[in-house]
Amino acid sequence: MSATIIKNGRVIDPANKRDEVVDLAIVDGKISKSAPKDAEIVDAKGLIVAPGLIDIHVHLREPGQGHKETIASGARAAAAGGFTTIVCMPNTSPAADNPATITWIKDRATESACVSVLPTGAITKNIAGEELAPIGSLGKAGVVALTDDGHCIQNHELMRRAVEYARMVDLPVLDHCQDYNLVGNGVVNEGYWSTLLGLPGWPAAGEEAIVMRNNLLAELCDHHIHCQHVSAAGSVRLIREARKRGVKISGEVCPHHIALTDEAIQNFDTNCKMNPPLRAKTDVDAILEGIADGTLSILCSDHAPHAEFEKEVEFDQAPFGIVGLETELALFIDLLVHKHRKIDIKRLIEMYTVEPAKLLKLEAGKLSAGAAADVTLIDPEHEWTVRIDQFQSASRNSPFDGWKLKGRAVRTIVGGKTIWKL
Ligand SMILES: [Zn+2]
Repeated sequence: MSATIIKNGRVIDPANKRDEVVDLAIVDGKISKSAPKDAEIVDAKGLIVAPGLIDIHVHLREPGQGHKETIASGARAAAAGGFTTIVCMPNTSPAADNPATITWIKDRATESACVSVLPTGAITKNIAGEELAPIGSLGKAGVVALTDDGHCIQNHELMRRAVEYARMVDLPVLDHCQDYNLVGNGVVNEGYWSTLLGLPGWPAAGEEAIVMRNNLLAELCDHHIHCQHVSAAGSVRLIREARKRGVKISGEVCPHHIALTDEAIQNFDTNCKMNPPLRAKTDVDAILEGIADGTLSILCSDHAPHAEFEKEVEFDQAPFGIVGLETELALFIDLLVHKHRKIDIKRLIEMYTVEPAKLLKLEAGKLSAGAAADVTLIDPEHEWTVRIDQFQSASRNSPFDGWKLKGRAVRTIVGGKTIWKL
């Protein structure tokens, strides 16, 4: 028997409506009501003891692009960021659009990942937006959601069929919202900075048009559609209005969309190039309000590793995306709890545990007796400086190198075992 007692910490367990300074016992990898006297003691004085955090938007690049990230290195980055469960996107090579690839990812995760890795399946074959993937078989193979992330189905009728099939097999649909005709070859937010720098603009309306489509289809099909990495003020407004009417729609936020505005692209730093792009101050303010009033209910990274040689090219040639697993929790605590005071730490933990678990119907995200002992210890006052050369991720493409942040995960426990410690 193995046993641990996490002593003197502030246990915040939103699923069980708990927030108290109390000891947490772990026996044989599970949360327990009590532990034997000879249990290992972990002193958590001054720390928050939270259910293991969940990130529902991560790119792990395997199979096919192990030079950017492997399932093993991505999982280590997750652990260092305080995450015990990550959900990986299907735009691998080959795409995760068939049961064999899903099984390969799950096997690889079992043998090499230190955190739980849950795969999503593509909605369409090869993520081409033309023909539906075998949604029923993907469900049987164990995907937790369907998404064409990185791409967006333009044909609304095809999207409607996808949502109807997803409903039959009880899987949520996650959507990267981008209208190809409106966005064209846009690489940065359409506005002052795109005009000044002469870079093709990606208008906010390109996202809002698809969010509006998703509202209509979620209502028509009476099934959940979750809008990924929401970046525009209009998207927040559309999701808010639809949720008020009971439409099964939701949205997530990535830290870069509140930490930076499109002003950051003025030095042509390709680590400020992501999709959707960094937006204007008015968009950032609307997203903050959306988080404060619960319109946007989930926090995630859109962790998108790329090798240095791939990012070190002309701005419009560079791939979209940045790594995020090792900075997201700190950025959100720093910005949402300390700086802007939009939510308290309890709600922040809820947005990383209860909310994603509810969306994807996961058993994770709570500290109930008998549950797997996935636990994150957080020091919300810890001041530190981001150093990309200390990342566990195989990639370094982050615009946050050198940033001073307040708040950090200091220990990550999976199944009762400490897998990372500051
Ligand atoms: Zn995306």
